[in-house]
Formats: sequence, C-alpha cells, structure tokens
Amino acid sequence: MVGPSRRTRRSGAPAARLPVAAPAPSPRIELARTVGLGERLDDWGLLPTKPNWAQGFEATWTPGEAGGRDRLAAFLDGGLAGYAALRNRPDLPNVSRLSPHLHWGEISPRQIWAAVQLRIGAAAKLAKDGDKFLSEVGWREFNHHLIYHFPTMQERNWKPAFDAYPWRNDAQQLRAWQRGRTGFPIVDAGMRELWATGYMHNRVRMVVASFLVKHLRIDWREGEAWFWDTLLDADLANNVAGWQWTAGSGADAAPYFRIFNPMEQGRKFDPDGRYVRRWCPELAQLPNDLIHAPFEASPTILAAAGVELGRTYPQPIVAHAEARQAALAGYEAVKRAAAS
Ligand SMILES: Cc1cc2nc3c(=O)[nH]c(=O)nc-3n(C[C@H](O)[C@H](O)[C@H](O)COP(=O)(O)OP(=O)(O)OC[C@H]3O[C@@H](n4cnc5c(N)ncnc54)[C@H](O)[C@@H]3O)c2cc1C
Repeated sequence: MVGPSRRTRRSGAPAARLPVAAPAPSPRIELARTVGLGERLDDWGLLPTKPNWAQGFEATWTPGEAGGRDRLAAFLDGGLAGYAALRNRPDLPNVSRLSPHLHWGEISPRQIWAAVQLRIGAAAKLAKDGDKFLSEVGWREFNHHLIYHFPTMQERNWKPAFDAYPWRNDAQQLRAWQRGRTGFPIVDAGMRELWATGYMHNRVRMVVASFLVKHLRIDWREGEAWFWDTLLDADLANNVAGWQWTAGSGADAAPYFRIFNPMEQGRKFDPDGRYVRRWCPELAQLPNDLIHAPFEASPTILAAAGVELGRTYPQPIVAHAEARQAALAGYEAVKRAAAS
C-alpha cells in the first residue's frame, strides 16, 4: 500500500500515489467434518489465571475481528473528525486504538483504507482528517517494508555511526522508567498507562522513548525490549522503527539533538493535566501549571496538594538541563564516527 507520503511532500516533489487495492472477500473455508471433535481452545489454558495479570485489559479491549470492526466504526463516528489536529493529545479520544487489531491481523489496512474512503466520500469535510489518518497507516506499511529490506535493524543501528554512542547501563534508572517512577509526570503517566492497558498514546511513546535514550542515555534496545514485553500491539517493524526514529539512528529519524523537554511536552499536549491526573492520581490536586513539573512547586503548594516529593511521588531521577547537555556530549562521538 502506498499512502500520502510525508517524504515526498518534505522534499517538495509531488506526492505519488498508487491505487490501493480493495480488501479481498472472506475466503470460503471448507471445514473438515472432524473439526469440533478435537480439543477446545479454552482447554489449552492460554489465558493467565494465577494471577490474571491481564484482567485490567478487559475493560479496554475486545479482541477478535468483531472487536476490530467495532473499534473502527466507533472511531469513524467519534474520533476521525478532528484527528489531524488532535491526534497528539493523549487526554482526548481522537486516535483509533486499532494498532492491536492491526498487529494481530483482526483487521487489515485495506479494510481501514476502504472504510475511510467511503466515509470521506459521504462527508467531504472529513477529507483532511481522513488523509492524515491514512498517512499514519501508511507509516506502518513503510516500517514493514523497511524491516523486510533491512532485517538487521531489529538489533543494529540503521545508521552505523550510532555504534559509537556511549550508552549508559543503569539498571536502577531503567527500572524507575519501566515502573513509571522517574519524577517526570508525563513520562510516568505513559509508562503506567502501558502497564495497565498494554497501550500507550503515540505522542507519549515518543516522549518516554526520548527520555530513556536521551535523558537517561540508556540503549534504545532496552526500551524496545520493554515495549515488546508489555505492548498489546507489540509489532517488530513498528517498534524497532519507532525506537530507532527516537534514538536518531533510524532510516527516518528525529535528529539526535532534538531532545524532548518532558515538561513542555506535557504542557503542550496535556494542557489541563487530565492524562497525568488519570495515571498519576497522587498528583491530581496540583494546579494545571505545575502538574507537569511538581518539583517546581513551592513547599506550600505541594503541601496543599498532599504531595511529598520523595515519598508520595518520586523526586526527578535526573536534572533536565544537565541530562540534555550530557546527551548532546554523547552525540559528539556519533558525529566523529560519521565523519571518519
Ligand atoms: C518508540 C515507539 C514504539 C512504537 N511501537 C509500536 C509497536 O510496537 N506497534 C505499533 O503498532 N506501533 C508502534 N508505534 C507507533 C505508534 O505509536 C502506534 O502505532 C500508535 O500509537 C497506535 O495507536 P493508534 O492505533 O491509536 O494510532 P492511530 O493514530 O489511530 O493510527 C492508526 C494506525 O496507523 C499506524 N500508525 C500510527 N502511528 C504510527 C507510527 N508513528 N508509526 C507506524 N505506524 C503508525 C498504526 O498501525 C495505527 O494503529 C511505536 C512508536 C514509537 C515512538
């Protein structure tokens, strides 16, 4: 599938499109008479019971083709209008959450493509949002093409110069990141959302990933492995490409020196602090202007909100400005390797 391409638009060349094939009809499968007399799926004990660590997922997800179809229909009715402007807001319901269904083959990109085209055809005012949404589905296709042609990128930097990056190995900080206890609310909210639901909003994935590789200077492969273990949509191509994009080592990568400021990202994309309040309830009573940086609040404000840093909520595990400088210093090694 070829979607509207950001790449061609960026370079100024006209965007080229190939038609997207219609979804194929369901295959006719002649089941053998013996099917049904064999084992029952439930008897295989595939679902966790002692303990049922997946219990929290049940409120969020309905696995299966019907669940995927329902989610697409709900998104087309409720989330698509405004998607282009609001898809970066983790506090709003404007993304589709179709990624687990896509990953597990419960819905296909062509089905999504056809349904969105139909919707745009019926309501032209949805064209911009529909186009943006389909371009995101196009990124998924791009990543799958990428890993097909460059399978070594599962483990190796796509840009070899990044082999020179001086990663730190800090098990304690990695653990704090995994558990959502870094002291940076937007990062902690994202990591807790991931643990509780098996999903994290794309904007927040970018923020937490940037925090791991840049603020903590921990190898992107550690983050990729944690996402792989915890995401319901864990997808080799998208996960690896997402991490390498963030680290700056990928084929289509954020420049390494662009380091997300977690406080600014929070204020911009969760302006009322609703997302943080949901996942870090211990901060809920802080005013909006401080909820993304509790360490900037005065002792009086913290006390009034019932927050005791270091006890009810962690102190920041790194200082933002120093971490930023250290990350940029580490990048010098990459630049030297690229020049040699
Ligand atoms: C560090 C990192 C790791 C990631 N790991 C995964 C992963 O394991 N599995 C996964 O499916 N996605 C991954 N992504 C991409 C993206 O975050 C998710 O696809 C998206 O958040 C899924 O939510 P949605 O279905 O509500 O997205 P929507 O915004 O509704 O998008 C619709 C579909 O388009 C595709 N899509 C959207 N954004 C992207 C993107 N940036 N890259 C590729 N495809 C995209 C997905 O298939 C998604 O389901 C990762 C991104 C980052 C930054």
